[in-house]
Amino acid sequence: MFQQLGIIGCGLMGGSFALAARRAGIVRRIVGYSKSPSTTERAQRRGVIDVVADSALQAVAGSDLVLVSVPVAATETTLKAIRHLVEPDVLVMDVGSTKRDVVDAARRALRERIVSFVPAHPIAGKEVSGIDHADAGLYAGRQVILTPLPQTPAALVQKATDLWAALGAQVLKMTPENHDHAFAAVSHLPHLVAFAYFGSVLGQPAAADLLSLAGPGFRDFTRIAASDPTMWRDILLANREEVLRQSARFRQALDALEQVIAAGNGEALQELLRVASDGRAHWQMHAPRPGR
Ligand code: NAP
Repeated sequence: MFQQLGIIGCGLMGGSFALAARRAGIVRRIVGYSKSPSTTERAQRRGVIDVVADSALQAVAGSDLVLVSVPVAATETTLKAIRHLVEPDVLVMDVGSTKRDVVDAARRALRERIVSFVPAHPIAGKEVSGIDHADAGLYAGRQVILTPLPQTPAALVQKATDLWAALGAQVLKMTPENHDHAFAAVSHLPHLVAFAYFGSVLGQPAAADLLSLAGPGFRDFTRIAASDPTMWRDILLANREEVLRQSARFRQALDALEQVIAAGNGEALQELLRVASDGRAHWQMHAPRPGR
């Protein structure tokens, strides 16, 4: 049981964490700070947080658990602002979608106090953002990746693991490098492709007519193109090397398909489609969600 949870960034992820922690009964009191006072007011009105803090530092004062749930590009400034209240008995986590940049930012901002920081990335979310979409069940049945540093005490990693498990999540540990490599392939590239594809349809003179004809396949494929542009700008830039590497691989795969289509080579086309189709048919998302 934590005495006080300090949430910095009361949006979708931070608000959902607060609701989940309260529902799991693992925190006594929740203090929230966000960039816009209207956000914290709404969070308090919805019962997501108990107390509104006027600064990030104020949200950390008296907290033994701190969640930094701001856009990844704001991590360094946020950690710098709270540094001198990050004592060894405080567990500080983030929820950022990229990990190498977050860890580098934490090293610069927290210096020797980085021992209190356990970087985290919950594989959960929505294409909508903001406190109004916060959901107590967001993390239940989901994976959470922790990327602890060599100097992170094992006991603190265990505390973080137990905490996410109490919210119903399954915890995996990996290095920040392996995390960013993997998520470039299975999260960052699909978002990039969805944005590019939707943009290419939208840019056509007959876009409105085309979109009026689109069905469920189009809807499913493009769902994530509605994701928050600011958040995705940060993620794609933060992990640019891995994203560009995955994008090049994707371009090769697309080129291969285009070539056999241009050549009218039905056999080769079918074989390329069959490999992908079989792979997708046998793929199952890890840790399917239980009822929420
Ligand atoms: P969100 O709903 O927009 O919430 C972010 C919140 O942080 C907003 O309330 C925002 O502003 C506040 N904020 C922004 N800059 C701040 C600053 N400098 N100091 C304090 N508060 C600040 O976004 P989210 O989806 O929760 O994303 C938060 C983090 O979760 C990101 O790092 C993202 O990479 C990660 N993540 C997101 C998903 C997803 O699917 N959404 C999944 C996994 C990880 P206001 O106060 O103006 O409202």
